[in-house]
Amino acid sequence: MHKHHSALGLAACPVKTANSLEIARQRPVQPVTLIRPHAARRAARFFVEKFKGRSLYAVKANPSPELIKLLWESGITHFDVASIAEVRLVADVAPRATLCFMHPVKAEEAIREAYFTYNVRTFSLDSLEELEKIMRATDQATDLTLCVRLRVPNDHAKLSLGAKFGAAPHEVKALLFAARQAADALGICFHVGSQTMSPSAYVQALGRVRNAIVEAAVTVDVIDVGGGFPSIYPGMEPAPLEAYFDAIHNAFEALPVSYSAELWAEPGRALCAEYASLLVRVERRRGDQLFINDGAYGALFDAAHVAWRFPVALVREGGSDAKDMAFSFYGPTCDDMDHMAGPFMLPADVDVGDYIEIGMLGAYGCAMRTGFNGFTAGETVVMSDEPMASAYVEALPERALPSNVVKL
Ligand SMILES: *Cc1c(COP(=O)(O)O)cnc(C)c1O
Repeated sequence: MHKHHSALGLAACPVKTANSLEIARQRPVQPVTLIRPHAARRAARFFVEKFKGRSLYAVKANPSPELIKLLWESGITHFDVASIAEVRLVADVAPRATLCFMHPVKAEEAIREAYFTYNVRTFSLDSLEELEKIMRATDQATDLTLCVRLRVPNDHAKLSLGAKFGAAPHEVKALLFAARQAADALGICFHVGSQTMSPSAYVQALGRVRNAIVEAAVTVDVIDVGGGFPSIYPGMEPAPLEAYFDAIHNAFEALPVSYSAELWAEPGRALCAEYASLLVRVERRRGDQLFINDGAYGALFDAAHVAWRFPVALVREGGSDAKDMAFSFYGPTCDDMDHMAGPFMLPADVDVGDYIEIGMLGAYGCAMRTGFNGFTAGETVVMSDEPMASAYVEALPERALPSNVVKL
């Protein structure tokens, strides 16, 4: 048995298993995390080969060391980190990786440690105060890549990241000018919001970038379009990722700095959504409500708090002939908020003792687990089957398509 260490506290990692039914037969009491390294490798290769620029992995989407390592091995050389703990983690797991500290509001101590101990040279900022802080913390370094974060519309995103960070249009000119004076390389970055459903969001944001460049009359070395690349979930049908890449590339080429600037992106979700799913057990059924052994304080935060719908499948010997019906889930803690409205479509005869696989939890699922009320994850098992949906495979085998997954 291969033991491994993890920032997420993942337990032992048993031998490779072909499918979730084999695991369900062992009747695990705690939720089992099913990981699919091949799916994350495929996603990384896709970005490395098809995005016409540099792809930084946004570590917050899933900071598991195994994942960081395999992304590095698959050609992801740059990592978007947002805290000193993420800096230390990636430096430990992938010592030759380049780290970019892309949180616009950082602790001065974190900047100093990142710069002097971990050789971090790229920082983002959205205010003059943060610029002064970065310069102070690095003893007025002259080798910095400073990325000014612009506020852009998040209208096309399922999860907005538009309100908290980003310089407003009237602040941008002075900020770009000051950052240009201080930086060795100047970047402009933004985030159109997570699970962005239309490539036009990036085109619109790059329009803002163009205005900012023209107004400030500065040369720019990096254009960073951030994250937001979508994955596939029930009821969400994004265009193929190539359509996003093409739209971004065309809009980038039209910028006055494209001849000399590098194009960067910071995918989080798209690189890891397919990496993990969860096998849970039904502990009680009350009508159309299933009480399961994981929930809002486990890997299902988004299912509970932003009504995210994840694909589900019954994992039972012989399956079920019953018609699908809509269920909601309650998690294991004693808290009313530990509720996932769904709807989750499952055979009408689901009952106590059944196992359910909940798919596409590699991004912002496993990463958000807590130990509240004593409930946490059990084993992690490496799978060789396909995820329930994929943005990278044309046709998935039959099992991978439960009725509530939207096929492109
Ligand atoms: C969260 C985040 C990302 C990743 O976003 P996804 O929607 O997961 O692709 C990238 N960059 C920054 C600055 C972020 O905060």
